Amino acid sequence: MLTKDELEFLKSQSLTTSDVYDGRGQSSAAWKAGVRAAGQTVVIGTPCKEKGHRLRTRSGHCAQCDTAKLGYQKRHNTEGYIYIAGSRSAKLLKVGTCVDIEQRRKNLRHQAYGNITDWEMLFTVKVDAGGRIEADALSRLAKYKVVRMYEKDGRKQEAAEMLKTSFSVALAAVQETLKGVKASEIRKSLRWADYEFKKL
Ligand SMILES: [Zn+2]
Repeated sequence: MLTKDELEFLKSQSLTTSDVYDGRGQSSAAWKAGVRAAGQTVVIGTPCKEKGHRLRTRSGHCAQCDTAKLGYQKRHNTEGYIYIAGSRSAKLLKVGTCVDIEQRRKNLRHQAYGNITDWEMLFTVKVDAGGRIEADALSRLAKYKVVRMYEKDGRKQEAAEMLKTSFSVALAAVQETLKGVKASEIRKSLRWADYEFKKL
């Protein structure tokens, strides 16, 4: 079913035919759901306009024209923790992903992310596709987004993942994105009520 070029491409990406979902003849919605349900990495489907390649990423980009898209997909789907952190001094929250929770808490404080040094981890959960869930949750919370400049390594940086809302609002958005997702090691701080910054 795959051409020699396609097999070589898979090999170059450390993938095999078992990572390929056959989405030929299916609607875009059908194969996008199918490849995720099957836990596979690439889809064989309609050829790309540029070069007629058939292998696509889960989101439909040509995997062969731009291999960076597969790299992005991989990071997006890496196992890790989703977290909600909060600052009482700034009355702000932050949703993010990390591999090591305590290390991230220390880094946020040490770097004074958003000029804030009292970050606490309020909620953490282990998931398979941290980046995607983070992006989903942040899009649900977009109207609460706050951007602040801060200094990192002597340079001005944008702290773009902060939210001006209550912990329970952020938690509800994260939980909504977790529906139907395998989640484990769920931890919620006993002090979450100190982070209900806005009346609902
Ligand atoms: Zn292509």
